[in-house]
Amino acid sequence: MKVFISVDIEGCAGVVGPFHTARAGDDYGVARRWMTREANAAIEGAFAGGATEILVNDSHGSMTNLVLDELDPRARVITGNTKTLSMMEGIDGGFDAAMFVGYHTAAGETGTISHTMAIQFHHVRLNGEPCGEFDLNAAVAGQYGARAVLLSGDDRICTHIAKRYPQVRAVEVKKYRGRYACDNLHPTAACAKIRSAAAEAIKNAAKVERIVLREHVMEIDLPNEVAAEYAAMLPCYEQVGARTVRFSAPDAAKLYQMQIVLGKIAVGAIPVPPPK
Ligand SMILES: [Zn+2]
Repeated sequence: MKVFISVDIEGCAGVVGPFHTARAGDDYGVARRWMTREANAAIEGAFAGGATEILVNDSHGSMTNLVLDELDPRARVITGNTKTLSMMEGIDGGFDAAMFVGYHTAAGETGTISHTMAIQFHHVRLNGEPCGEFDLNAAVAGQYGARAVLLSGDDRICTHIAKRYPQVRAVEVKKYRGRYACDNLHPTAACAKIRSAAAEAIKNAAKVERIVLREHVMEIDLPNEVAAEYAAMLPCYEQVGARTVRFSAPDAAKLYQMQIVLGKIAVGAIPVPPPK
């Protein structure tokens, strides 16, 4: 049983704001340790449940957040960016199950530090439904044969998972109190919860259905018209509203890559403020 674990930071217990998630943030040093501990909890649980091989992919920002000396030495780990599959880099290696630790709700939805991929995306829709990182990443896992079996994060993302993907185990480690405030489990308690859920998830993995998309159409609301106009210069992106771009792809991984490129265009299209 080969297990892939994508680890983000916004959904980890204790993490509530940019001072935790940004490298320059005052509390980033402690947040990356909470993230590493939650990754370890998933690794320990997965091995206890029957995993034989685990690959962890650092999936936040610079993707060099996990404190490697403190990570369970039984796991391999992918760090750094750029990666052509970003948060799902390595999933094409023949995995049976995928886990998503420290995840959060979609851009435009209520939830702790909600966003979808690039912070410049105001809303993302996948086949007409609001799309967060899990929705797309789990489909990429499905494309490569891996079953999404577990997600951890706040109560809002867990509610989304329970509604739309009841076969995926959702582990709530904190409750949303405001975009930058949570009622958290203690980090040790959060890890204990992730560990036991991960063990159960791997034991039952064979019974879980893969998430596979029937169509691959994405619409993204960008921060301004300039970004949409620049994107539409490429034949693969269609401007369907002042700030909205639509595109489609033959599969989930290609769709994933097309939104990565659109994120770069969106960043580049934000005008530099005039000199004062
Ligand atoms: Zn994220």
